[in-house]
Amino acid sequence: MQAFDLHRMAFDKVPVDFLAEVALRSLYTFVLVFLFLKITGRRGVRQMSLFEVLIILTLGSAAGDVAFYDDVPMLPVLIVFVTLGILYRLVMWLMSHSEKLEDLLEGKPVIVVSDGELAWEKLRAENLTEFEFFMELRLNGIEHLGQVKRAIMETNGQISVYYFSDEDVKPGLPILPGKCVERFTVLPEENDYACTRCSAIFHLHAGDRQLCARCANPEWAKASRAKRIT
Ligand SMILES: [Zn+2]
Repeated sequence: MQAFDLHRMAFDKVPVDFLAEVALRSLYTFVLVFLFLKITGRRGVRQMSLFEVLIILTLGSAAGDVAFYDDVPMLPVLIVFVTLGILYRLVMWLMSHSEKLEDLLEGKPVIVVSDGELAWEKLRAENLTEFEFFMELRLNGIEHLGQVKRAIMETNGQISVYYFSDEDVKPGLPILPGKCVERFTVLPEENDYACTRCSAIFHLHAGDRQLCARCANPEWAKASRAKRIT
C-alpha cells in the first residue's frame, strides 16, 4: 500500500458508478429517517429529551452506515427503524403510565434558583456545580440572581424563570461572564457581597477576609441590586 495515493483515498476498491448507488442509498436513509420522525411525532430538536437523543443517535449510526458502505445491505436498516419505532412508542406509552420510569428516562425538573440564590443543596445533590445555566439566565435578560424568585431546569435543558417584581428584587450574585465581575478575597468596603460559588449573600466589612459560611469559598463579588428593565 502507498500512503497518500489519491485514487485509493478517493475510491479504494469501489468502482466510480458506486457513487450513484451512494446517492440512492442516501435518499433511502433520508426517507427512512424522515418517516421515522413523522411517525413518532417529533416537532423539532429543541425539545428533545435524553431518551429521544438516544433513539436518534442509534438511528443515525444505522442510517449512516447504510448510506455509503457497499457491503451493508439495505433491508436490515429498515428492521432497525421499525424496531426503534415500536420501542419508542412502547416506552412513551409506559412512561405515560409510570412516573418512576419517566423520571429514570427523562430526568426530573430541578429547581436551580430559589428566592434569589442558587438552590445550593439541590444543585450539589444533582452534581450540578458548573453553572452553564447562567448563560440561559443571561439569555432571559437576567443580570443577577436577586431578580429571580425561582428558576427550574427542565428535562430538555431549558430553564423556566419566575421573576421577583421590581420592588421585591434582592441583592444578588451578578451572573455576567467571569471577566465582567470583579472578585475580591479582601473586601474593599462595607457592602452586601455574594459568594461567587454558592451565591449566598452576606453583609461584610472593609478589610474582611472571609470564607463563605455555606460553602467555604473565599471569593466574593459585590451584590447587585439592579432592577430588571422591561
Ligand atoms: Zn458560598
